[in-house]
Amino acid sequence: MGTEIWTLRCQSCDGEFDVELPAGQRVIETAQTHPCPHCRKQPDQDAAGTEALAVWHHVVGFQPRKN
Ligand SMILES: [Zn+2]
Repeated sequence: MGTEIWTLRCQSCDGEFDVELPAGQRVIETAQTHPCPHCRKQPDQDAAGTEALAVWHHVVGFQPRKN
């Protein structure tokens, strides 16, 4: 079981950052809750409970990693 590297782009500062997740884990939950390492923006802090795509970090890249 490997891991997967997802690249997200912050909606607030437009900065990109990588998150590493176990293979098969849904990235969308991370995109909703992971604080941006650049500006510390947390996507759901202004819109808790909404499912509006506009408040999430954008997923801009993906690569599998084999351990
Ligand atoms: Zn940011």
